[in-house]
Amino acid sequence: MARAVYPGSFDPMTNGHFDIVKRSSKIFDEVIMAVVANPGKSSLLPTDIRTELIRAVVKEIPNIKVDSFQGLTVDYAKQNDVACLIRGLRAISDFEGELGMAQTNKQLFPELETIFLMTKAEYSFISSSMVKEIVRLGGDVSMFVPGPVNDYLKAHFIRGTTA
Ligand code: ADP
Repeated sequence: MARAVYPGSFDPMTNGHFDIVKRSSKIFDEVIMAVVANPGKSSLLPTDIRTELIRAVVKEIPNIKVDSFQGLTVDYAKQNDVACLIRGLRAISDFEGELGMAQTNKQLFPELETIFLMTKAEYSFISSSMVKEIVRLGGDVSMFVPGPVNDYLKAHFIRGTTA
C-alpha cells in the first residue's frame, strides 16, 4: 500500500491545502494530513484545533487520515511506514525553501521521496499567513478557507469586531 504524508502547520487549513490533499488522495492509497506541532512557533490556533478542523473538512474522503506530531517529519514517516512526502508549490519563492528541505530529508532518510504538486492557479495567492492577517483585522475569509474553518474563525475571532 502506498502511503503518503502531507505535513504542514495548517494554521489554519486553506482551500489551497484542501486542493493539494484531495488531489494527493487520488494518487496514493492513503494520505495522512499531519499537523506539525511546533511548540517554539507561535500560532493562531492550537494544534488540537487545527487537527479537528482538518478532520471536519476531509471527513467525506475515506483515504485521508488526520494526525499531528512533534519533531522531525522523517521520524514520523519512518514510524508510520510512509513512502512519500507531499508538499505544495505556489511560486518560485516556495521552491527555494522546499528544495532545501527535500534534500535535507533525503540525507536523513534516503528511502523517502518528496513529491510536489503545483497549486491550482486560483489558489496560488492563498496562504495561512494572509488568512491570519485578515482574521486579525476582522475581515471575511470565507472565500479562502473551507466551511468548517471559516465557521470556527468567525465564531472565535471575527464575531464582535467592527469592520
Ligand atoms: P509550512 O508547512 O511551511 O508551515 P503550510 O502549513 O502553510 O506551511 O503549508 C503546508 C504545505 O502546503 C507547504 O508545502 C506549502 O507550500 C503548501 N501550500 C500552502 N498554501 C498552498 C496553496 N495555496 N496552494 C498549494 N500549496 C500550498
